[in-house]
Amino acid sequence: MEEGEFSNIEDELENVKKGDTILHLNYKGLKSLPPCLLTDICYRNLKIIYAKRNRLMCLPEYLNQLFNLVELYLPSNNIKTIPDGICDLRNLESLNLCDNELNHLPAVIGKLKKLQKLQVSVNKLKCLLSCIGDLCNLKTLELMRNDLSTLPVSLCQCERLETLNLDYNRLTTLPRHFWRLTSLSELSVCGNNLINLPQTFASKGSSSNLRCLFVDKNPALHVLPLSLIHVDIGNFQSCRRNDPLGVLPGAVELVVPYKEILVPIVMPPEVRNITTPWKSVPSLQELGLRATGALRSKFMDFKDFDEMLDSLPCNLKSLLLDPTAFCQSCLQEVYVSALPEVVLDQSIFYLGFCCSVKCAVQISLMYSTNFGINIVYPLCMPVI
Ligand SMILES: [Zn+2]
Repeated sequence: MEEGEFSNIEDELENVKKGDTILHLNYKGLKSLPPCLLTDICYRNLKIIYAKRNRLMCLPEYLNQLFNLVELYLPSNNIKTIPDGICDLRNLESLNLCDNELNHLPAVIGKLKKLQKLQVSVNKLKCLLSCIGDLCNLKTLELMRNDLSTLPVSLCQCERLETLNLDYNRLTTLPRHFWRLTSLSELSVCGNNLINLPQTFASKGSSSNLRCLFVDKNPALHVLPLSLIHVDIGNFQSCRRNDPLGVLPGAVELVVPYKEILVPIVMPPEVRNITTPWKSVPSLQELGLRATGALRSKFMDFKDFDEMLDSLPCNLKSLLLDPTAFCQSCLQEVYVSALPEVVLDQSIFYLGFCCSVKCAVQISLMYSTNFGINIVYPLCMPVI
């Protein structure tokens, strides 16, 4: 390594030696971080490194020598991989890797237990590893403009997550388990290919913190969950461009009349059939699932309940742990057959589910008397 490479940052390094805990290296044309950071004990008290818009291609393997680092600010470089040694930066609270060349995050990233802010927008991530769920203090996660088509279920373990940005990826759905993100107040999923949003999302009072949901430019999104009717949802007019018919093979669909056209409304994939006011008995499978789900409250320890479910096929087990929907009226779990309620409010369709005709009538009354909004019943019943 040429000595001259770091001649333009001598002043900045000197400041740290004199006791400054912040190293300013933005716009310095660096191809690597100066090796002295790791070899010279003078730098051990460094708390923040700003190194925006350099030409960094990788980070040193032994970055863990700087164990007092709280913030690493590295946007607009050419970083392709992150060394596993980063997991030893146990005090790191903020990591900014936006606008780099990453196609994966290291599996050890879950060890950064103090991390509150992770920004990896404008990279090439194709998937997120499940270890992301180990970031128990994460409050902000930014992943816009990557190549994500799915999200790991474990993301829902980040119970402190407040802001999540997933704009401009390739998502067609969000995990049903999102209802566990009880701290989430702002979610942005613009420019994806979402077909619907999970019904459990923001229901059962769980995501009552959700204030903003941005869903602009999801052309196949025709309907929003009824539980989001009072949430600011951004520019929904930019959705509903394409006909989603046929997007989900085998999915149950409703068709509702709107301004002389028929709007198709795709049910969540878990819903296998629907009940209606004139065919009101749920399927035997639905009744069995509800009975099993109701057992949960009888178990003192949820772990015992989970173990009891181990004998079931995994899709049924996951359904019992995270139901398809909660009844809009009584909050009872709903699994594979439900009574859909479609509400039209200011030209936006909202879809909710009820467990029974009795609950559906109550919801219908509530919307018409309290909000002056009528339930729209589907024109055509789906072929089942
Ligand atoms: Zn109900």
